Amino acid sequence: MGRIVYLNGEYLPEDQASVSIFDRGFLMADGVYEVTSVLDGKLLDFDGHAVRLERSLSELDMTMPLDKDTLLEIHRELVRINDVTDGGVYLQITRGAPGDRDFVFPDPEQTPQTVVLFTQSKPGIANSPQALTGLKVISIDDVRWGRRDIKTVQLLYPSMGKMMAKAAGCDDAWLVEDGAVTEGTSNNAYIVKGGKIITRDLSNDILHGITRSAVLRFAREAQMDVEERAFTIAEAQDADEAFITSASMFVMPVVEVDGVAVGTGKPGSVAARLREIYLDESRKSAI
Ligand code: PMP
Repeated sequence: MGRIVYLNGEYLPEDQASVSIFDRGFLMADGVYEVTSVLDGKLLDFDGHAVRLERSLSELDMTMPLDKDTLLEIHRELVRINDVTDGGVYLQITRGAPGDRDFVFPDPEQTPQTVVLFTQSKPGIANSPQALTGLKVISIDDVRWGRRDIKTVQLLYPSMGKMMAKAAGCDDAWLVEDGAVTEGTSNNAYIVKGGKIITRDLSNDILHGITRSAVLRFAREAQMDVEERAFTIAEAQDADEAFITSASMFVMPVVEVDGVAVGTGKPGSVAARLREIYLDESRKSAI
């Protein structure tokens, strides 16, 4: 049996849900998205994702098509009907389908936004074996556009980056601009040196990760030292540990950067501790 998905107010079997070829998401990547994790049938960090969604939309002169409570209800209903224990809910909102192609934004009164949500089931994601072995990453030039703080659906370059990593026998790529790491292709990047957690400061150069914000809060609450600044690949290779964060990977250790082992070449204790705290605390506040 296929999934039940949400499309513009309706719950439909996935093979009956279709979107116009004139949809601006399809023709122009004119849309935004969010991914909210599900553990034990509950949503993690829902508020953070809803707030960032509203901000991404407003940066593109779009409005929230549904209020936050309705959005939460739809998320919960999809998790319920699709019987998702662990996994996530993907949400995408585009500027809709004006019935033709034009660079000029359509009048929102005439062209309703397209709203799509679907679930992805990933049993046991909190116990991923990769958390015990760690990821290998390569570095690639960050040639994405200059508004990476908006969570847009322009994912071609991140996708190319993942393929470059795969071709190099690695798991992911870290993006480098002007000699410094911005972030991973779909996650925020961190190093640990002398007990200090170092990660890029917030600006238009990176996506403001919801998991990043939670993890840094937990780290500070646990009296860990945090420094928000840019770092280089050389610094990462010379660090004691490295890791990434995202809603789908939580906290995941990185053990190799461009072929050089980080620290002992094994997942480090800071990453392991933060993963544990993040999972514990997020489960407690999951809704
Ligand atoms: N940076 C980028 C480029 C991303 O695509 C993502 C997740 N999609 C993140 C960071 C992590 O954000 P979050 O913790 O909200 O998933």
